[in-house]
Amino acid sequence: MDEILKIGADKLRQKISSGEISSVDAVKACYERISQTEPKVKAFLKLNEEQALIHAQKSDEKIKSGAKLGALEGVPIGIKDNIMIKGESMTSASKYLKNYISPYDATVIEKLKDAGAVFIGRTNMDEFAMGGSTETSAYQKTANPWDITKIPGGSSGGSAAAVSAGMVPFALGSDTGGSIRQPAGFTGIVGYKPTYGLISRYGVCALASSFDQIGSFSKNVKDTALLVSVIAGKDYRDPVCQPAEAADYTHNLDNPNTFKGLKIGVPKELGNYNVDEEISVSFKNDLKKLTEQGAEIVEISAPSYKYVPALYKVIMCAEVSANIATFDGVRYGYSSPNGAGLNDEYSKTRAESLGYEVKKRIIFGTYVLGAKNYYRCYHQAQRVRTLLINELNAAFDKCDFIFSPATLQMPVKFGGELPEECDIFLIAANLGGFPGITVPSSFSPKGMPMGVHFMGKRFSDAKLFQAAAAFEKISCFDASKYPL
Ligand code: GLN
Repeated sequence: MDEILKIGADKLRQKISSGEISSVDAVKACYERISQTEPKVKAFLKLNEEQALIHAQKSDEKIKSGAKLGALEGVPIGIKDNIMIKGESMTSASKYLKNYISPYDATVIEKLKDAGAVFIGRTNMDEFAMGGSTETSAYQKTANPWDITKIPGGSSGGSAAAVSAGMVPFALGSDTGGSIRQPAGFTGIVGYKPTYGLISRYGVCALASSFDQIGSFSKNVKDTALLVSVIAGKDYRDPVCQPAEAADYTHNLDNPNTFKGLKIGVPKELGNYNVDEEISVSFKNDLKKLTEQGAEIVEISAPSYKYVPALYKVIMCAEVSANIATFDGVRYGYSSPNGAGLNDEYSKTRAESLGYEVKKRIIFGTYVLGAKNYYRCYHQAQRVRTLLINELNAAFDKCDFIFSPATLQMPVKFGGELPEECDIFLIAANLGGFPGITVPSSFSPKGMPMGVHFMGKRFSDAKLFQAAAAFEKISCFDASKYPL
């Protein structure tokens, strides 16, 4: 594999800016690696080679001329196919948006363009980000680069696989219920979901608006912190986006004393679930290492963890049914030519263009919002959600971070099913709006990567990066190892 891609985004950025490596060479290295691995992995729905090379050339000229450079000048990145880039297609891996062209840039894209990043291609995902395996994509299945008979996780499986296989140094994804952190865990990379409201969702195809966040995949924590420094910050076009100015998230990531005196909370409820043997062994070892670094392991408890799968399903599906109501075949997207009258046209449009998983969620979401079920299901779920948030906030009085395995199970083969508890500790972060990051921790005896998850208080993202970066230094994972 090309050495250019092994150094990670931050070092690559430095070398491009100093002229040591040209952006054109970096971009070519990505496409070279893609041409080798993509036939097996199928991470991308679309590649922009021609445009990317033109952009890279412009960056190189800028660098040579001594002009002011963007924070990511000439650095390649992959973008999940549910984020709008003006004038380009955005399918959300659905047939419904097959011919859709984005009329404007998402805020994160605007910021990346200002920073000079080069877009390599659009990554595959579960249809409208509904799924945990990338198998519900209407177009193709993405494979886990560490074992191509297995799923990469999802819904951002394309971004995870692309970064994991070294096709791009980092990538954007979206995380509504673990969709960045679960595939990052399955593919041995860093996956981050910000505090709800830290990064704008303007221009992102909505799944469930009270959970959705844009986040990132990278090979190391520093690269994620660098990317977040570029894309975070206030945006009046996303009403939940907090008014904080953009900040630098990259400092204090090399402090050898980060864990000294830090309280790491481990949920008592972890003991209630079946955890795969290799994950359990690795996690115990991780706890031991944290203690050796001076951290204090404390037991925390949030009894409402047991409701996470149900809460998530009810609220997420309710929001799905509301968001997807705009997909009516009238305003944009697919429109069935077979409808006889308005109602028939609505239903045929959806019947012909949406996949099974999407239809199932619309139906269930409509059910829980129905007059008879609203209080019994949706309203009740929101109340229990508050209970869980209160319990987790109380837990944060006792610890700095809540720590768990990234996933409780290893990735399954295509067509296999993951138990619903697999990512419950990740989904708790979405329910509460807390930031979370998964970091690779070790390899299983069969050579599959495993990871851990740190969840912090709201807006503790900078501290979260510090803990994750410190963990990365003591983890048994060899990040210089690439699959395929
Ligand atoms: N597995 C979750 C779901 O299917 C993940 C969704 C997401 O985060 N986009 O809803």
